[in-house]
Amino acid sequence: MIDLAVKQALRSQCRHRVGAVLAVGTRVVVASPNRRRNNPAVTFRHATFHAEEAVLRRAARTAGSTIYVARVDAAGASRLAKPCLRCQKALLAAGIVRVHYTIDPNTVGTLNLARTSLAAK
Ligand SMILES: [Zn+2]
Repeated sequence: MIDLAVKQALRSQCRHRVGAVLAVGTRVVVASPNRRRNNPAVTFRHATFHAEEAVLRRAARTAGSTIYVARVDAAGASRLAKPCLRCQKALLAAGIVRVHYTIDPNTVGTLNLARTSLAAK
């Protein structure tokens, strides 16, 4: 599943190439790379939809699913893709607690959002 996230990251048109896959068990629900926003009113800070946001926007049902996030460098090698705080909050609000993300080409990290300080709020 993390390999599918890597494939999505390789499709990204953004400077930082990130991909995400939302899955229930072994079934892929939504897969997307991060995307540029095309509305000129958005601030530079929020100039892209992070891959996590992109899949959340397209998923009809999110509660209980697992998300896989990958980032690739210019050479296509996996790099650290731990979701940012904004995405962690959005994922938790959507009922997604299990996050798997690339750390380097050989390592995948796991984050259980229910066990982070975010869950207490
Ligand atoms: Zn993010």
